[in-house]
Amino acid sequence: MFLQIKKLSKGYRKGDTRIIALDQINLNVEQGEFIALTGPSGSGKTTLLNIIGGLDNQDAGRILIEGQVQTKGCDAESAFWRAQNIGFVFQFSNLLPYLSAAQNVELPLLLTSLSSKKRRERVSAALELVGLADRASHYPNELSGGQEQRVAIARAFVSSPKLMLCDEPTGDLDRESAKSILNLLNTLKTEFKKTIIMVTHDMIAAEATDRRIELYKGKLTQAIVSSEISPFSDKER
Ligand code: ADP
Ligand code: MG
Repeated sequence: MFLQIKKLSKGYRKGDTRIIALDQINLNVEQGEFIALTGPSGSGKTTLLNIIGGLDNQDAGRILIEGQVQTKGCDAESAFWRAQNIGFVFQFSNLLPYLSAAQNVELPLLLTSLSSKKRRERVSAALELVGLADRASHYPNELSGGQEQRVAIARAFVSSPKLMLCDEPTGDLDRESAKSILNLLNTLKTEFKKTIIMVTHDMIAAEATDRRIELYKGKLTQAIVSSEISPFSDKER
């Protein structure tokens, strides 16, 4: 099993109240699966993605990727591992405005020991893949929303991560651009065997995936899991 999530819980304290963002989540994801994570606003989707990607810490529970327990905290070793193995795509592309498309895509590679020649090759290949080879020297404000998001996917993909975490990647796009992003993610799955978890509100986007799971008030309510682990918490059974 590529990704195993076991009894993952997370709460936030706001003044005197405690918000339970994730309530004993169990989930197994196979290598190469493309999963849609749906659920109403505030149901914990971003929290779950951020914890899987190490941008946030859980209160309880474990995450294993390829059998390795993901350590909490931000020690250099796990940060380096994540930089190499996990790619993030957000709703807004978050490209740096004063860097060209190619320079934006190159950013994650600056953390690696690749030579500048190798970096340039990787950047070209990634831009080619997202269909923007001819826009390499364009700045973000010279690109459409859909093109910016494709550059963001190239940036997430350029370090060859095994896992891509996408938080509403089509949320800010028109139907046509959304379709091209979905096609692109499907290509990453089928041709590059990437494992992809995509948060989405868009049912058409959700249907383009292998499996849909739904969060509701911090619980997974509708996960058809191919594994022995039940998606439901012990309390509900
Ligand atoms: P979603 O992405 O599904 O909209 P989130 O994961 O962003 O939901 O949020 C889940 C719950 O946790 C919400 O009730 C939200 O208000 C709360 N929450 C998220 N981040 C924080 C934070 N940093 N501090 C306090 N509460 C938070
Ligand atoms: Mg969110």
